[in-house]
Amino acid sequence: MKIVGLTGGIGSGKSTIAGMFHDLGIPIYIADIEAKKLLVSSKVVKRKVITLLGEKAYKQCAPDRTYIANKIFNDATLLSGMNAIIHPKVASHFKRWIKKQDAPYCIKEAAILFENGGYAQCDATILVTAPKEIRIERVMTRDAISIDNVEARMRNQWKDEKKISLATYVIENIALEASKNQVKKIHRALLISSVSNP
Ligand code: ATP
Repeated sequence: MKIVGLTGGIGSGKSTIAGMFHDLGIPIYIADIEAKKLLVSSKVVKRKVITLLGEKAYKQCAPDRTYIANKIFNDATLLSGMNAIIHPKVASHFKRWIKKQDAPYCIKEAAILFENGGYAQCDATILVTAPKEIRIERVMTRDAISIDNVEARMRNQWKDEKKISLATYVIENIALEASKNQVKKIHRALLISSVSNP
């Protein structure tokens, strides 16, 4: 099955766009959700995260997401340490997941795809973009967090200009109806390419 990587900066609307592909019957894998689940379900992950970030990373038995986010999004070494713990586990979970899917292609949504070279394992990529001010506004509203917090997360992601040159398709997600039309167009193109190039 073809793997189509879907990425975009924080607040660009990746999950919203992934939902549109899901509505068209395409299986969706959201790497961030699996990563969050691993923090809870894997004892090995928990032990490694505590070694990296300290005992405060877990409150009672639950991961303290605010503490973890504050640590890793303000320290590039801790962020890459966290990625080294989580990413190989998500990658093997994805391999098991994809074997169970039956569709011409699947969408793999990941916040980081170009930055870590993950796009090389995809047959095509979709980049979701929106102006920075709109993205900040969306995330502040959705997560009730400060502008500093959003900007700290943005600093760990490449700027759109750098990603556009690597992406197969770009969706500018401003008005939802226009985005839906872009999704349908890309869906048709992906169906044609999976028939002509299985
Ligand atoms: P993150 O990187 O934080 O995971 P994301 O890129 O997956 O974010 P979404 O969660 O899909 O982004 O969207 C961020 C917020 O903006 C959500 O509340 C969503 O409902 C809203 N949103 C997404 N697209 C649009 C749009 N075109 N118009 C208005 N609101 C939108």
